[in-house]
Amino acid sequence: MNFSLQNITRNNILSLQPYSSARDEFTGEASVFLDANENPFNSPLNRYPDPRQVVLKNQLGILKKQAPNCIFLGNGSDEPIDLLFRAFCEPGEDNVVAIAPTYGMYQVAAGINNIEFREVLLQEDFSLNAEKILSATDSATKLIFLCSPNNPTGNALQQDEIIRIINNFNGLVILDEAYIDFCPDKSLLGNLEQYSNLVILQTLSKAWGLAAIRLGMAFASPEIISVLSKIKYPYNINLLTQEKALEVLQSSEEKELWVKTILQQKEILKKELARLPLILKIYPSDANFILVTTTDAKYIYNSLVNKQIIVRDRSRVALCGEALRITVGTEAENRILLEALKEIGELNRNK
Ligand code: PMP
Repeated sequence: MNFSLQNITRNNILSLQPYSSARDEFTGEASVFLDANENPFNSPLNRYPDPRQVVLKNQLGILKKQAPNCIFLGNGSDEPIDLLFRAFCEPGEDNVVAIAPTYGMYQVAAGINNIEFREVLLQEDFSLNAEKILSATDSATKLIFLCSPNNPTGNALQQDEIIRIINNFNGLVILDEAYIDFCPDKSLLGNLEQYSNLVILQTLSKAWGLAAIRLGMAFASPEIISVLSKIKYPYNINLLTQEKALEVLQSSEEKELWVKTILQQKEILKKELARLPLILKIYPSDANFILVTTTDAKYIYNSLVNKQIIVRDRSRVALCGEALRITVGTEAENRILLEALKEIGELNRNK
């Protein structure tokens, strides 16, 4: 491998002078702030939040066993996804490679940034073939998107294949671990230092139960993190989000209990779904959702909507014929879903 961050960074980004906010320009203690044209009343919401999120990154660093300068915080993981395109992909020239099927935002961000998006199908069993991915790359490929556990398929990708891709690619490998807290496999975060071209995405939106506050994390070398930090909006993480995240991250106990409960419910849901004639196949899941093949995804989806139950119709997605993706809910929610599916099945039989 011959990876050089300088080589893959766009020239306009390399030479960019980033915006320097009022709060960036001094160090040390201060008590009178007349630098940012804020309103002196309505404390604390009158003040701009810390643009570098120092306290929150320190806390996260302890939890994730990472140096704070290896952490980028974004408005959801969607922000670093977009910034990776803007930093490293030249519109109209470069391309990225991604597994298919996978999370839809990689392709949308590619489209917004006018970057060719090359999809490489997973194997029939949704496993990853490193050779297939690598052979889709060329000298204009800047990013490879992997997602493990993968959305919508639910399975974790094999770590040895992921590492083969990282070791044999001269651009950045983006490994999206949004669902890693539900997965028996370990995160690659512990090995981040070994891989200068790896970016790991995680989020507080899933296991931590904080989708509403919009806090996504990217972990990578300090050099990669400083490129992303240079091009972000100065105050991209608002004060309420920083404070709420700090409060919740003090203790992982509740999160761990939620994960345990969701995983128990997933097992029950899988067993019950397997008894329904409408469900033809249940894919293995390392996440908090289950992908199933059904007799007729669109019909079942619409019938569930009529009963005010929303699942995700994935039947038009590559390799996912007649598939629905079902998030594991509370015991009561799962029971309502199962009852509804039973009714839809019976109605169908009596037609
Ligand atoms: N990555 C994956 C694989 C996802 O499924 C999702 C959301 N469904 C996200 C990222 C987005 O996470 P966030 O809420 O942090 O933007």
